[in-house]
Amino acid sequence: MKPGDTMVIDRAGLDRLVEVLHEAEYRVIGPQERDGAIVLDDLASGAQLPAGWSVDTEPGRYRLRRRDDAAVFAHSAGPGSWKQFLHPPHRKVWEMGPDLNEQRAEDSAQRFAFIGVRGCDLAAIAILGRVLGGGTYSDTGYTGRRAGLFVVAVNCTEPGGVCFCVSMGTGPGVSKGYDLALTETIDDAGHRFLVDIGSETGADVLAHLTTRPAETTDVTTARTAVDTAAGRMGRSMPAADLPTVLRESHESPQWQDVASRCLTCGNCTMVCPTCFCTSTEDVTDLTGDHAERWERWVSCFELDFSYQHGGSVRRSGESRYRQWLTHKLGTWHDQFGSSGCVGCGRCIAWCPAEIDITAEMAALAEGGTNDRS
Ligand code: SF4
Ligand code: SF4
Repeated sequence: MKPGDTMVIDRAGLDRLVEVLHEAEYRVIGPQERDGAIVLDDLASGAQLPAGWSVDTEPGRYRLRRRDDAAVFAHSAGPGSWKQFLHPPHRKVWEMGPDLNEQRAEDSAQRFAFIGVRGCDLAAIAILGRVLGGGTYSDTGYTGRRAGLFVVAVNCTEPGGVCFCVSMGTGPGVSKGYDLALTETIDDAGHRFLVDIGSETGADVLAHLTTRPAETTDVTTARTAVDTAAGRMGRSMPAADLPTVLRESHESPQWQDVASRCLTCGNCTMVCPTCFCTSTEDVTDLTGDHAERWERWVSCFELDFSYQHGGSVRRSGESRYRQWLTHKLGTWHDQFGSSGCVGCGRCIAWCPAEIDITAEMAALAEGGTNDRS
């Protein structure tokens, strides 16, 4: 087996894949059903995958739904993203004792294996790589964790109501950036996964499983399911030149309109797989013998985010929402060479005010206030 080959494994083969990755000393992370959502966490075995669950999503709403089959990847993005492992919400950067030479950088040598990474989230991992791993001063914690990563991607066949990956060019199929890519099929021929091999490491791992070469019907069935999913997106981003629209919308009444609904809670930035902003805090103990530096996620919706010498630059919700959207869909292109949005829909489902980034952008592109009547 080699990169480019296409094989088939059955449901037991998927469980064996989790075992093999454990044997290779990866920390295996995958989707699981917990607390009314599909979350991402450590997988002790394939039995923990969310068999028989789908999700229904719409603005401000996310609900699990039971399926009448045992599909394990038939759900769209949940509240968590792979960002929480590659770029953790709260992490110690270094610590120091009385001897100033005793500084220790954080350990980023942990090797992750992610199972079930969709096209939108694979694109988000690539974006984080350019943001945190690029430039003159890269984040060595991120690059260390990314370097050891093994990716089992999933070609999505069950888009959710808030998904719009097709209009962002990131899904529902995956094309690169994975070691193995699975497409799940359940029909009269059984429960199986088409496996596209994307790397030598992926081929080596797959060699430990019972596989068979894919037949034409396996490939046709799987590819057709992904093509069909592309036609079932819940929504789409307007096909306009978004950076130009945003550049010309600085004084749009739409910002006041959205600010009248936005709670500035920051949920949208916390669930977004590409929002990367952090703050740094130094902590000492009472004796003065020990100090630590911690990094934690922050949101551009926080008042403190733009605090400078005595005041915040963006005091209104209007200015903070404008900052978020303009960076995400506009100036991100200038900084990092792509959009900052991959169309996962998380910010729509998890916004308590039901604010929809595609609807706000459509209103701006039309040059007027969003009519939600
Ligand atoms: S857009 Fe929604 S999720 Fe984001 S800050 Fe406003 S209310 Fe919160
Ligand atoms: S802006 Fe919203 S839809 Fe786009 S990547 Fe972030 S959470 Fe997903």
